[in-house]
Amino acid sequence: MTTDELRESLLMKPTNGYTSLTAEQRTEMEGYSKRYMAFMDACKTEREATAWAVREAEKLGFKPFVSGMEVKPGDKIYYNNRDKSIALAVIGTEPLSKGANICAAHVDSPRLDIKPNPLYEDAEIAYFKTHYYGGIKKYQWTTVPLALHGVVYRKDGTVVTITIGEDDSDPVLMVSDLLIHLAADQMRKTAAEVIAGEQLNVILGTEPIEGEGADLVKLNIMKLLNEKYGLVEADFQSAELTVVPAGRCREVGLDRSLISSYGHDDRVCAYAELEALFTISQPAKTAVCILADKEEIGSVGISGMQSHYFEHFMGGLCDAQGVKLEDCFAASFCLSADVSNAFDPNFPETCDRRNNSQLNYGISICKYTGSRGKGGASDASAEAMGHVRTTLNNAGVLWQIATLGKVDQGGGGTVAAYMADRNIVTVDAGVPVLSMHAPLELVSKLDCYETMLACKAIYLA
Ligand code: MN
Ligand code: MN
Repeated sequence: MTTDELRESLLMKPTNGYTSLTAEQRTEMEGYSKRYMAFMDACKTEREATAWAVREAEKLGFKPFVSGMEVKPGDKIYYNNRDKSIALAVIGTEPLSKGANICAAHVDSPRLDIKPNPLYEDAEIAYFKTHYYGGIKKYQWTTVPLALHGVVYRKDGTVVTITIGEDDSDPVLMVSDLLIHLAADQMRKTAAEVIAGEQLNVILGTEPIEGEGADLVKLNIMKLLNEKYGLVEADFQSAELTVVPAGRCREVGLDRSLISSYGHDDRVCAYAELEALFTISQPAKTAVCILADKEEIGSVGISGMQSHYFEHFMGGLCDAQGVKLEDCFAASFCLSADVSNAFDPNFPETCDRRNNSQLNYGISICKYTGSRGKGGASDASAEAMGHVRTTLNNAGVLWQIATLGKVDQGGGGTVAAYMADRNIVTVDAGVPVLSMHAPLELVSKLDCYETMLACKAIYLA
């Protein structure tokens, strides 16, 4: 054998997905990207993503889960968890004792949440106080256009939905930064301290209402909110209002190969899972799609992946088939679909290049996340990795290996550990992202498309 032949038979040869992309696949990829971008423009919060999923699922014949309901092969069922997360299932021809094929992504993203007592006036400028949610570089959130999204539970018990800053005719909101001319002290601080959490105050207005007092600008803002939404100041105490980057997805690059958006992490995987599920009618095993909340703060709370709402849903489906939930979980597989860090040549020192995901090389499969000595990771077994490898290869899906940065550089987690805690074999996988957790993140169209194909292959495995 020549060395070329040996290389061919023994060594891996990763290739850029564009080298094998057919014209037909390109058309599908572009169509998929357009649908994904429309989803992202409509969904910037977990509530909006959940509402979107419910709406689209119902169009396709999905029915809401009811405890004690009958369940037969081909049935499409969803569980709306308090409008903030959702699990959807297409019932398989095999009983749930054979396990389910699950894809689990999250639909919450880093942002600035409005504090419970947010509205104040200082130097005749009205502001909202905020508390950041998830891991952010705080300085990135100044001087960018921001929008207000959320719901308020009013005194009379009615709930009003608020979206300001997304329509072209809407005003946007903003956090100011210090002018460079006077920033001598600020520029000597570390990046973590350049903008403090308590400086992320969102400007709401500057015009005083006619009258006497030291709160005329604040009063004017409250009056505007009252006229449009019927709010009084005390209503903020029962509200979930959040500030996110304003504006739409854009194609990026002269070749339009990338997409910029707020919140690719992790709605890029959430959308892939959903669209893949929506193409399935009669899988062998029950296919389950999870869009979880609260991943960015540890998967906690009633809408997070640690919540027993998932047992309520899956237990209900199992009961209908006379199957023990424990037996179902023990035989199930979960793809924990969450983004990875794409290799960034501007910061090569942060990664082990041989083990990092790269743009346009397909969905990245992550054996473990975690930090330090794999702390907090759900370290997938050889068998679990083998299952994914075989499934994706058989389906012709382009995939690559990922690790989150070089050893001891940092780290992170996903919902994987909480699925594995349920005795479900779990592997992390997702779309490589540049500028993760920044107000605008970047992904490649090709990787988005391959991730949807991967989810479909996992559902049908
Ligand atoms: Mn994520
Ligand atoms: Mn994240």
